[in-house]
Amino acid sequence: MRRKLVAGNWKMHGTRAEAAQLLKGIVEGTDRLLAAELLVCPPFVYLFEAAAGLRGSTVAVGAQDVCGEAQQGAYTGEVSATMLADAGCRYVIVGHSERRMIYGESDSRVAAKFKAAQQAGIVPILCVGETAAAHDAGETRAVVRRQLEAVFDAVGIAAFASAVIAYEPVWAIGTGKTATPTHAQEVQAYLRTLVAARDAKIGASLRVLYGGSVKPSNAAELFSMPDVDGGLIGGASLASDDFVAICRAAGRVH
Ligand code: PEP
Repeated sequence: MRRKLVAGNWKMHGTRAEAAQLLKGIVEGTDRLLAAELLVCPPFVYLFEAAAGLRGSTVAVGAQDVCGEAQQGAYTGEVSATMLADAGCRYVIVGHSERRMIYGESDSRVAAKFKAAQQAGIVPILCVGETAAAHDAGETRAVVRRQLEAVFDAVGIAAFASAVIAYEPVWAIGTGKTATPTHAQEVQAYLRTLVAARDAKIGASLRVLYGGSVKPSNAAELFSMPDVDGGLIGGASLASDDFVAICRAAGRVH
């Protein structure tokens, strides 16, 4: 059985003091919650402190992005996967739609980030998802397939034995318009079949998260879908009570 994973993507929010406060609330609220795996992804500058603060807790630390070019070198402003591992990161988000859309990250750049993360022993959380226009045009499957196949082509299917996919419809991110559990299930089952067609065992064990306006009020229903193996949580991960409630919802569903 796949263990649910709930990951908080803090994006570019908070001060150092607020980060410490948020972590305190999450650790206290999720004490002894072992049924689901829990993760927070703070901004780079708070990673070391977050990892230190979470040591001994059930909550892991991840990053929101990584350099895909190299593990070190002349890449001003970038942070390598080796550095993230050194900071205590177990996971890293790659291909978030904000990075694809605001910073123009291509499918091949995302694939390079995926590869660099794995080379440093970090599990990539690969985000895929369609825009509102693609959704309305009935192109959801074609978009997520293209995004996923770009990574298959670059790293091979075996690399997905140690990876997570997050289905994040762009129209649902930060908008309050959550995908229906049926829609999430339908797309996520499709993503799994794409993986399973290449390797049945990996397809069965791979975790596929849903992200896009997950809240305490809708988390349990989403997580009860057979191919929704947890969530990538943006806005609601910035309030410890909300994030804890979502983690608890994941811990209750088997
Ligand atoms: C995200 O940015 O990954 C996300 C899912 O955001 P939100 O939960 O705020 O929609």
